[in-house]
Amino acid sequence: MQGKMAYDNNRQDGGFQRQMYKGDWKCAKCGAPITELPFDPDPARLDQLQCRDCHKQRRSTFQHRDRY
Ligand SMILES: [Zn+2]
Repeated sequence: MQGKMAYDNNRQDGGFQRQMYKGDWKCAKCGAPITELPFDPDPARLDQLQCRDCHKQRRSTFQHRDRY
């Protein structure tokens, strides 16, 4: 874990802190660079990564069912 940092964030989101994973990935859909993710990406699924926008779209349109 990293040391404490001063967060410039006044919002209270129920007190749970989302960990972001930094990296250098690419969105499989629009090709946009992805520099951080809220989860640790599976190396086997790196070609299926989607940026935040595409991910949001997918969730709202709900065309596919993801089964793991
Ligand atoms: Zn995208």
